[in-house]
Amino acid sequence: MKKNEIKNKVRQQDAQVLAQGYSPAIRAMEIASIVTFVSLELALVYRLWGNPHTGTWLLLSALLLGYLAADFVSGFVHWMGDTWGSTEMPLLGKAFIRPFREHHVDEKAITRHDFVETNGNNCLISIPVAIMAVAMPLSSPGWVFCSSFLGSMIFWVMATNQFHKWSHMDTPPALVGFLQRVHLILPPAHHGIHHTAPYNKYYCITVGWLNWPLQAVHFFPLAERLVTRLTGLLPRQDDIGDEAARALVEVQGATEAPVVQAAKELITKATEETPAPVSTRPSA
Ligand SMILES: [Zn+2]
Ligand SMILES: [Zn+2]
Repeated sequence: MKKNEIKNKVRQQDAQVLAQGYSPAIRAMEIASIVTFVSLELALVYRLWGNPHTGTWLLLSALLLGYLAADFVSGFVHWMGDTWGSTEMPLLGKAFIRPFREHHVDEKAITRHDFVETNGNNCLISIPVAIMAVAMPLSSPGWVFCSSFLGSMIFWVMATNQFHKWSHMDTPPALVGFLQRVHLILPPAHHGIHHTAPYNKYYCITVGWLNWPLQAVHFFPLAERLVTRLTGLLPRQDDIGDEAARALVEVQGATEAPVVQAAKELITKATEETPAPVSTRPSA
């Protein structure tokens, strides 16, 4: 089955209906989440400030590792939202799944969302981690590192939807455009790869650095196979429709991970290039 044939089978939900699912109750929850999240992050900065174990290199490495971890988390959460569940599910459906479905049928909608709608969800999911980071004892460099790493990770998780929103804007602010061009935040062309039906790759949306390595080892297709084996669920059924989802499972099942393909090619090349042993015995 060709990729184009899957594209033709894709059946998505109505953009307007999806957009109407954003209720005042969900908005109130998002505002509360943002306030709680920012308060916890400020409390963490206050605790780290002046702590004898806090050093520049420790903070810089926590900041960078936190950025990488956020990129992975953004990919994992995005993959979960895109691939599993349905907008009909109680509670989760309207608050969490709906924005993922809406984003595939109307990718510009995010550019019309205000600060609360853009960032509320990510603040909400980060609150338990923020509580953990604030509650750590900070009595040794190890604790300080763990706490600042978690604080950094959720800071970047919170920034993720903002970076994602900018990647969909036709004319982002000049500084943002520069950061996108040097690939320090998610570049539009890079993210465009995810927005091609059937939406099954390049899930990382903080900066996207992890997209290539995860794609190379087929991280998400393998995870999907595992979930299907354990639960019997069909990936992306709610997003692209039953027929396309089934067709995609078939295609992905028959494709090998790029690293496996490259390894096989190397082995074949190596065996072909080994010269045949030359016989030293004089022929009769
Ligand atoms: Zn998506
Ligand atoms: Zn997007």
